[in-house]
Amino acid sequence: GRTWTGVGELCAEMKDKNVLIRGAAQAIRSVSKKMAFLVVRQMMSTVQCVLVVSKDVVSPQMVRFATSLSKESIVDVEGVISVPNEPIKGTTQQVEIQVRKLYCINRAVPNLPINIEDASRSEIEFKKAEDSGEQLVRVGQDTRLNHRVLDLRTPANQAIFEIQSQVEKVFRQFLESEGFRGIHTPKLIAGSSEGGAAVFKLDYKGQPACLAQSPQLHKQMTICGGFGRVFEVGPVFRAEDSYTHRHLCEFVGLDVEMEIKEHYFEVCDIVDRLFVAMFDHLNMNCSKELESINRQYPFQPLKYLPKTLRLTYDEGIQMLKEAGVETEPMGDLNTESEKKLGKLVSDKYNTDFYMLTRYPLGIRPFYTMPCYDNPAYSNSFDVFIRGEEIISGAQRVHLPELLTKRAEQCGIDVKTISTYIDSFRYGTPPHGGFGVGLERVVMLFCGLNNIRKSSLFPRDPQRLTP
Ligand code: ATP
Ligand code: MG
Ligand code: MG
Ligand code: MG
Repeated sequence: GRTWTGVGELCAEMKDKNVLIRGAAQAIRSVSKKMAFLVVRQMMSTVQCVLVVSKDVVSPQMVRFATSLSKESIVDVEGVISVPNEPIKGTTQQVEIQVRKLYCINRAVPNLPINIEDASRSEIEFKKAEDSGEQLVRVGQDTRLNHRVLDLRTPANQAIFEIQSQVEKVFRQFLESEGFRGIHTPKLIAGSSEGGAAVFKLDYKGQPACLAQSPQLHKQMTICGGFGRVFEVGPVFRAEDSYTHRHLCEFVGLDVEMEIKEHYFEVCDIVDRLFVAMFDHLNMNCSKELESINRQYPFQPLKYLPKTLRLTYDEGIQMLKEAGVETEPMGDLNTESEKKLGKLVSDKYNTDFYMLTRYPLGIRPFYTMPCYDNPAYSNSFDVFIRGEEIISGAQRVHLPELLTKRAEQCGIDVKTISTYIDSFRYGTPPHGGFGVGLERVVMLFCGLNNIRKSSLFPRDPQRLTP
C-alpha cells in the first residue's frame, strides 16, 4: 500500500519530500483561476495545501475542483513539502504541501449547521472579531450538542477527549500496578444501590428492577468473594431531577474497592497517589492538549501538592464559619459552600485539590462505617478539585447486623438487598473504596464550566439524543 503521513507529523525536516495525507477540508480559499489554498485538518492538526497551476502537474480544472469542494469534505492530498519564509498563520503545522494530486473521498453537504473554525474560537476572539466587524456565527451549547459530530471536530474537543482517555489509562495502569483487579458488575439490578429517588426504574421481564446508580453493592460483594483489591470503569445511571452544570443522567464511574488492614486512610492513600500520578502524567504528556483547551476555554493550571491536603469535615466547616458562611449543622455542603471552601483552601494552602474526611454519618449512604470513637461521624471522605466534588469514599460496614440496622434507619427496603447483606455472613475482611466521576475529573482538571463539555454524548434530564 501507499505510505500515509499524519498531518501532525508534517515538519520542516521533511522539506522536498513527497507525502500523502487524508483529512477534512477545513477551509478553501480561491486566489485566482490559477491558485487556491486548502487547509486540511486531521484531529488537532492542520496544514496548508497550495495548488498552483503548472505545466504537467496542476491543471486549471484541478484548481477549480479544489475550490468547488464543500467544507469538511474528506480529501486525500499528495504533494511536496515546502517551508515558507514567514510563519504560517492559522495552521498548526509550519510547512505547506505543494499539491500534486487531490482526491475527494467523501463530500460534506454545503450548508453545515456548525462552522468548525467559528466554533473553535474563544469568547475573547469572538469579541475581538465582532469589534473589528467580522461576521462569525456564534454557536450555543444546544446547537453544539445537537450536531455533536461536527462540534467534536474542534481542537478543544479533540483535546478534551484525549485527556479523558489518558485519565482512564492512568486510572487502570496505576491500579493494576498496585495489585487491583479490573471487574465488571451488573448494571441491571433489583434494588437501588444508593437509596433516594434518583433511580431509573424498569421492568425486568415482569420483575421490578433498576439501572445501577453505582457499582457499590457488587463491587463490595467481590471483596466478599475474596478479591482483595478491585477497580471498575463503567456506566453509572442517575435520574437526576434538576439541570445543573455538573450532573448527568449517565456518566462513567471510576470505582475502587479494597481490603483495609488497619485504617480507612489506606484508601485515602491510594486516592492521593493515584491522583498525583494522574495530574503529573497529564501535565507531562498532554501539554499540547491542555494548550488547545486553554486557547478556547482559558483556565489556570491545577495547583496540587505532592501529598494531598487532608482536612476534617469539622475543620472545613470551621473555615467557612470564620469566613462568614453558615452551613446546616452536620449537613452536606451545597455546591455554593463547596466552591467557597475551595477558594478558602486554595488561598490558605495553595492547592486546588484536597480531601475532607470524617463526614457526619447522617449524610452518608447506609453502607458507610460509623467512626469507632463517635458514631455521629463516619470513616468517610470527599475529594474536591477547584471546590467541586469529584470523589466520595469510605470504609464500608462489613458486619451484617449493623448493615441491616443502618439500611432500615435509612429507609431502605432490606428485602431488595438481602443477597447483598447475606454476602457478609460468610467472613469478609474490613474494606473500603471510592467512586469517581470521569467527566467531573476532566471538567475540573481543565477548568471547564459544564460537564456536558467533557461528556461525548451527554445524557441529562432534557437530552436523550444524539
Ligand atoms: P453530588 O454531590 O455532586 O451530587 P454525589 O455525592 O451525589 O455527587 P456520589 O454518589 O458520591 O455523588 O458519586 C461519586 C462521584 O460520582 C461523585 O463524586 C462525582 O464525581 C460523580 N457523580 C455523581 N453524580 C454524578 C452525576 N449526576 N453526573 C456526573 N457525575 C456524577
Ligand atoms: Mg448527587
Ligand atoms: Mg456529594
Ligand atoms: Mg458524594
